[in-house]
Order: sequence, then structure tokens, then C-alpha cells
Amino acid sequence: MKVRTATLFIAGLFATLALHAQEPKHCSATAKECDQQIRQMLTGRRYLGLSIVDLKPGIVVKSVVPDSPAERARFKAGDRLIAVNGHSMTESSVQDFKRMLASVQNVGTLWVIVQRRGAYQRIDVRLEPYTKEQIDKIIAQHLAQSHTATAAAGSSPGQ
Ligand SMILES: [Zn+2]
Repeated sequence: MKVRTATLFIAGLFATLALHAQEPKHCSATAKECDQQIRQMLTGRRYLGLSIVDLKPGIVVKSVVPDSPAERARFKAGDRLIAVNGHSMTESSVQDFKRMLASVQNVGTLWVIVQRRGAYQRIDVRLEPYTKEQIDKIIAQHLAQSHTATAAAGSSPGQ
């Protein structure tokens, strides 16, 4: 069974950056261009810190980013998302959840009903701006994934 995953702290990153939408696997821009563009896009942007997967139907928390708003709000891996801001999520996909997160960028707060070991719980969470450290990490990940030629150029494969 194939499971689609989405790391929500980079939600929307590659969807909104045309450069990367065209070349999701291999990026043709220079590392410097990408660094600037990603940094500009994420600075001041708010994130949640949940990685979720499709249950088909429905969505469940796969992991919680350490030291993120989601962790502080006490989300746990395995939580099934039942509703977000009053909208049912029981038939929703990861894409639906991303759209929901994008739509609350300005408000910055979410209330979520999760199902955990059979019981429903309400979680209130406030999205927070990315820190410089996190943005650095996201850029490093992008460079490692999509600029492999550049990354490998300086080093020879170990024997
Ligand atoms: Zn790039």
C-alpha cells in the first residue's frame, strides 16, 4: 500500500514557488537563487508543525515536529483529525488540510478535534512564524534533494 505523506511545516512551499512547481525533483536554478527565494517566501510565514498522511478516507498525524506549535499544543502521532475550525475532516485528504492551513494564515489559530485511542479531544493551536533556524533547515533540505549535482560536486564518493 502506498501512503502519501506531506510535511506540513513546508506546506505550500513548492506549490507556490513556480520555479519548483515546474521542477519538483531537479531544480535548475542556482543554489543562491533558491536560498534567496525560499527565505523570502518563508520569512514571516506561519506554520503548524504536523506531518500527516491520507487514510483514504480521512487524515491522521504521522509525526509532530519537535519544538513546533503542534508539539506545544500536544498533538500526538496517530491522532485522527476529525474536524478543523468546525469543518469535518473525516472524508478529507492531505490536500484539503493544506488548503485549510493556507486559509488561516492571517488568523493564525486553529481548533482541531482529534480522535485519540477512541476518545475525542479538542486541541487549540496558534500557528507561529518560522524561525531563522527552521528556514535554514528547509533550504538545506531543498538543496540536498534538488541540487544533487551541486551538492556532490565538491566531494568524491567514499570507498
Ligand atoms: Zn532549488
